[in-house]
Amino acid sequence: MSTYQVLARRYRPQTFADLVGQETVVRTLRNALATGKVSHAYVFSGLRGVGKTTAARILAKALNCERGPTPDPCGQCLPCREIAEGTSMDVLEIDAASNRGIDNVRELREVARILPVRDRYRVFILDEAHQLTGEAFNALLKILEEPPPHVVFILASTEKHKFPPTILSRCQQLDFRPLPTETIAERLKDVAARESFGLEDAAAHLIARAAQGSLRDGLSILDQVRSFVGDATVDATAVSQVLGLPPLEFLLELWQALANGDAARALALVAQRETQGGDPLLLYQELLELLRSLVLVAANPQAPLPYPQAFRDASLTDVGLASLLRILDLAIRGRELVAAAPSPGLGVMVAVGKLALWPRLKRVEELLASRGVEGQSPSPATASEGALPLGSSPWDQFLDKVSHKLGATLAARLRNSCELSLVEGELVIRLRAGGPNATAQAVQEALPRLEEVAQELEFARRVRLVVTEPEPTLEQKVAADPRVQAVLEVFGGKITKVEERS
Ligand SMILES: [Zn+2]
Repeated sequence: MSTYQVLARRYRPQTFADLVGQETVVRTLRNALATGKVSHAYVFSGLRGVGKTTAARILAKALNCERGPTPDPCGQCLPCREIAEGTSMDVLEIDAASNRGIDNVRELREVARILPVRDRYRVFILDEAHQLTGEAFNALLKILEEPPPHVVFILASTEKHKFPPTILSRCQQLDFRPLPTETIAERLKDVAARESFGLEDAAAHLIARAAQGSLRDGLSILDQVRSFVGDATVDATAVSQVLGLPPLEFLLELWQALANGDAARALALVAQRETQGGDPLLLYQELLELLRSLVLVAANPQAPLPYPQAFRDASLTDVGLASLLRILDLAIRGRELVAAAPSPGLGVMVAVGKLALWPRLKRVEELLASRGVEGQSPSPATASEGALPLGSSPWDQFLDKVSHKLGATLAARLRNSCELSLVEGELVIRLRAGGPNATAQAVQEALPRLEEVAQELEFARRVRLVVTEPEPTLEQKVAADPRVQAVLEVFGGKITKVEERS
């Protein structure tokens, strides 16, 4: 039985075509090879595990392949095979983190002067090149200023900003992107198919998400989960267990508590998870991810979700897109709470507790929105307790209740003859003087009971009746016009009839 070779190693891309997710980089390098315009120095920058060193090796093969230089190295010839195995005399991979001093670079400079042992180019791949000392960078700069024609430098780095500008200006810079979750998931499924083991779609997505843009990390997690499940199919439950993520059923329960605005239940679940030894930060992160997914699905029911279908169906609630966005927004802001708390557990508890109060915030916004629609008072309503059923405006809610408790006539009067506005927790009812006298009287008499209804609905704390001056009549407005007064004075006379022109 042969020893097991880790997946990340076995499935390390060997050609530019295999290098998924880095299309821009690949295209640039292939073009350079095809037109014979390969630079003497490159900076490959990007997060760890996105393919920088792999691309450097493929470039080295492309330069030194017996059939090259070519964008498509054969992979069969001796140089190709040696470079793939890391044994080529002419392609040197140097870990700059442990060879960061000036002496190392001086040595490297000596080697660079010598012609390649066998191949066309001497290729130096400096991993984590930003770790070089200032002196070492200066020594390197001297080579880069007048590079021998047979030398290609590839400086790979996760922290390009640490390079001196003089170095950067001598190099062609290629930025490697973090791989999209979907790309990693597809690649994992592809590997599973080639290795003939079962990998659930949801599990592939969970792993891809945890890999955070790094295919290498994704493959290494897949390795871990495989040794955990043995011959069984790699499913979401196994991935959750290996990664210490909360089980999906647990996440679903938490989400349902939040959707219902049940803070007590949500807090109990958070406490339960902590008692079981779950990492509160991972829990919060998974919750954020779920909320993000729910927002995506609310916006587009076809959006791919890194969850099994049953979970997806169960997680759908009648919480609409606007509310989901608000909850996600709260959850993102909750990260500050988590970071500031004396312990992660405490922070997550507070953040989740606050998240469960989202229906109250929703209510304030609804009040503001309904007031906006009716073009009324601009001052903000204060927050109040409790939630209104979804899909009804608070005004309708209030008037329905008035109609039910105090009679339809009063409700109709409020609806038709009065102007309602909410100002800092106070419901102001405006009536024009000179309007139907019965209305003013009825409203005045009903004020204490209206206030009860408003308080009961937690719609407003107080109710006030304001009687405003009557709107002047058309005749009054015309008579008050100085131009009309001037005409009357000069010519004498009086107004007998005022008509509005259409
Ligand atoms: Zn070859």
